[in-house]
Amino acid sequence: MTQRTPRPGEVDAAVADQSFAIALMQHLVVPTFVLDADGKVSIWNRACERLTGVPASEVLGTHDHGFAFYDDPRPCLADLIAQGRTAEIEGFYAAYDIDSSSQLGFHVENWCRMPRAGTRLYLAVDAGPIYDEAGHLVAVVETLRDMTVQKEAQIQLEQLASKDSLTGLANRRAFDERLAAEWRRCQRGGQMLSIIMMDVDHFKAYNDTYGHPQGDACLRSVASVLAGVAARTGDLAARYGGEEFVVVLPGTNAAGARVVAERIRTAISALNIPHVRSSVAEHVTVSLGTASADPSKLAANALLMAADQALYSAKSAGRNRVKTASDLVSGA
Ligand code: GH3
Ligand code: MG
Ligand code: MG
Repeated sequence: MTQRTPRPGEVDAAVADQSFAIALMQHLVVPTFVLDADGKVSIWNRACERLTGVPASEVLGTHDHGFAFYDDPRPCLADLIAQGRTAEIEGFYAAYDIDSSSQLGFHVENWCRMPRAGTRLYLAVDAGPIYDEAGHLVAVVETLRDMTVQKEAQIQLEQLASKDSLTGLANRRAFDERLAAEWRRCQRGGQMLSIIMMDVDHFKAYNDTYGHPQGDACLRSVASVLAGVAARTGDLAARYGGEEFVVVLPGTNAAGARVVAERIRTAISALNIPHVRSSVAEHVTVSLGTASADPSKLAANALLMAADQALYSAKSAGRNRVKTASDLVSGA
């Protein structure tokens, strides 16, 4: 395509348009910066200066704007667009909204530790290319929105929705989600997965003797042992309901699960919470059932049932013990 040489009046008008556009962007309350076709910063507005703590004078005409957002060298969304690397966008961001991203622009979200501003912000980032009439890239515009407050509120809500309010452990809902996710992960990795089901012995009698509030306190103590054990091993402990708890141990076989269950049983005994009406001991004890499987050979529900059966057999064998469902599940 041949390009017509612009007449002098047109050049003046274009320059005036450009100055107007730059002045306009300077006054936008939305943090905005613009890269030219070479990827150099051509506009860095005041809102962007305020957000990043980096003055325009430091970055204008350079490629060095990344340090405003990240400690380590890495491209910004506008860089990836300017360099034609849009296929790589997904790998660089916590969230990439493919649906709302189009040829006109891309939308991503990310936690950014703004080194100069000394803040850690969750930014929503929109960036899009600008082409001239001939279809050549002339600029990439990136706008940023600070979504930290909303993101933190969302994380808090999610945590509340997934936590058991009495013990602080994961609740049943969170457990179901994590079990499904770990099940798929172990299936892909060809790893064993184990489950421990645990129930407090003679807990009805405990409540009857010491009262419901002390029963609650007892459940919190028992839960803190589970939380400690799970935190050390990277497993998930959850309150399954009432005085029943469950632990998921991805990548752990029957022997491993038994060791963890025995450790939990001993640690809860060692809490030495008095229980005068227990027929098992003078303190609070628990019974545990473990089950292990190769997730590609079994359904998650079947493993849960197997762990429950093992727990039942620990109860009927006298409580305060661990039973393993290794004979119930193949591949254990
Ligand atoms: P077993 O040794 O066979 O497990 O006997 P158990 O008495 O522990 O079993 P059972 O299922 O009969 O009793 C469970 C008790 O747990 C009854 C219920 O009131 C109590 N419980 C369930 N949830 C809570 C809770 O959140 N707080 C308190 N304090 N008690 C609870
Ligand atoms: Mg029970
Ligand atoms: Mg019980």
